Amino acid sequence: MITESLIPLNAVQVSYPVMEHFYTIQGEGFHQGTAAYFIRLAGCEVGCVWCDVKESWDIAKHPLKSVESIVAETEKFPSPIVVITGGEPLMHDLTELTSLLHKKNKKTHIETSAAYPLNGEWDWICISPKKFKAPLPENLAFASELKVVVFNTSDFKWAESFTHLVSADCKLFLQPEWSREKEMLPFIVDYVKQHHQWNVSLQIHKYLNVP
Ligand code: SF4
Repeated sequence: MITESLIPLNAVQVSYPVMEHFYTIQGEGFHQGTAAYFIRLAGCEVGCVWCDVKESWDIAKHPLKSVESIVAETEKFPSPIVVITGGEPLMHDLTELTSLLHKKNKKTHIETSAAYPLNGEWDWICISPKKFKAPLPENLAFASELKVVVFNTSDFKWAESFTHLVSADCKLFLQPEWSREKEMLPFIVDYVKQHHQWNVSLQIHKYLNVP
């Protein structure tokens, strides 16, 4: 067994398996270049073959931390932005975590495949759909940002298949899969020049050599 949800039926989740947490620069998408505190929750059943955080998949390998202790860590850093990522964070009930972050005047951002029902209080929702486990169509209307990882040129057509499901003001990004960046970037640049509603996203944290 790889993972299973920690949310018992009818129970409120008040602790979360945390793989890592760190203060850094958001490297991707609309908030690229902005200081942010990241909380990487464990658990993922999406199974992307190119996943660069496979160690996050197994919930049992990561310590459970109380919502209070997780939020207390974020208060040590000045940026108001807290990014909840994974793994697939929507495998968890994020209501308590995001509610307490808001009480501490933090901005809550999520990075998700959207393959599970949306929950929690969010200031920014970045949906990065994955072919390996499709996003729930009803989630896409809530996306502040749609970030599609491009592994090969057929992914442009796949990316377009989501554009009628997001809101008119959703920001659209195409981001090369890291191991394919050199090959795919020229295609992405050409595509964005032809389809100006899209923007290029690079993983600049990898160039900055920060987590
Ligand atoms: Fe990895 Fe994210 Fe895909 Fe899960 S959804 S397999 S964590 S890239």
